[in-house]
Amino acid sequence: MPRRSLPLLRPADASLPPLQARWLGAVLDPPSLPDEANATCDDCAMLPDPSLPPGALSFSPDTRCCTYLPSLANFLVGGALRDASAHGAASVRRRIAAGDGLSPLGLVADPAVIAATHTDGERFGRDPSLRCPHYEPVGGRCGVWAWREATCATWFCKHTRGERAKALWNRLQQLLAHLERAVAWHCALTLDVPAGALARMAPLAQPHGQARADVTARDADLWGRWTGDVEGYFHACADMAEALTAAEVLALGGAEARALAATVRLAAAQLDDDALPARVALGRMAVVGLTAQSVRVQGYSHLDPLEVPRVLFEQLHHFDGRPVDDALRDASAAAGEAVPAGAVGMLLDFGVLRGA
Ligand code: SF4
Repeated sequence: MPRRSLPLLRPADASLPPLQARWLGAVLDPPSLPDEANATCDDCAMLPDPSLPPGALSFSPDTRCCTYLPSLANFLVGGALRDASAHGAASVRRRIAAGDGLSPLGLVADPAVIAATHTDGERFGRDPSLRCPHYEPVGGRCGVWAWREATCATWFCKHTRGERAKALWNRLQQLLAHLERAVAWHCALTLDVPAGALARMAPLAQPHGQARADVTARDADLWGRWTGDVEGYFHACADMAEALTAAEVLALGGAEARALAATVRLAAAQLDDDALPARVALGRMAVVGLTAQSVRVQGYSHLDPLEVPRVLFEQLHHFDGRPVDDALRDASAAAGEAVPAGAVGMLLDFGVLRGA
């Protein structure tokens, strides 16, 4: 089992789309993020693998993890129309033509549909009817990769530092989604979308933050001077978003963005802190595989189990809430070899153990 060490980091622009990576410069110093080397998108780590135990969870090659309908803010729509692969641009045009969730804010997926499908463990990663329209079946790539949105940019099936890395990515998703909405509203206001359209995009009955309007595409009241040139409007949004500095984007997000940025910094600092808790106990886990040498254990995520050497697994009962130094000493004595603190840290990261 790999031992916990300080997280390997990579520059934000190697993980995030270019715009969102630039925004991170106003949040983290340096703007680096965990290197999720186990989530190999180019060679999907979740495809069926005969070397895994029978019943091991896998994704369909026809969908991979892209059983999701992303909300693309107006500037992401414009960027994808301009720069995406031919398939990507065509897929965005098809969504515009269909008009579902289309408004000057962009293409906004129905949150009720997302809630009903994205969290369904049986359908996620498998159900071809949920396949994202921007997914390229040949080659299994994202057609709008450089213009993907916050959830697509921050979701990984596996994390080298388990739950603690996932916590950072989740916080980053929350911040980026907020900033994407703020920039989308800024573009709509600056590009003279009529006040009546703004009202329709923010109906009173709508939960905060879910700006999906009951609107009719290509309606003159909705698009104002952009009527008949919806693509031109989205291109202008992309140009406008690209011209904003990171500090300007954070300012557009207001006090909520500053608060969410603070939570991102806190999660990054917690990921950097390798100290073990004073007392450690068993977490919630399930055994999902066995070999003569190791036990496959599911802790924080059913997608990211951990191989634990049997010699260590059989000593986990010593971690029963007693002081961690005592548990390490007792486990090492019983195992006949030193149980390293780094291995315990790894088990903590993956939720197999927890602070007591
Ligand atoms: S936008 Fe790209 S990354 Fe996101 S679900 Fe679609 S194909 Fe996958």
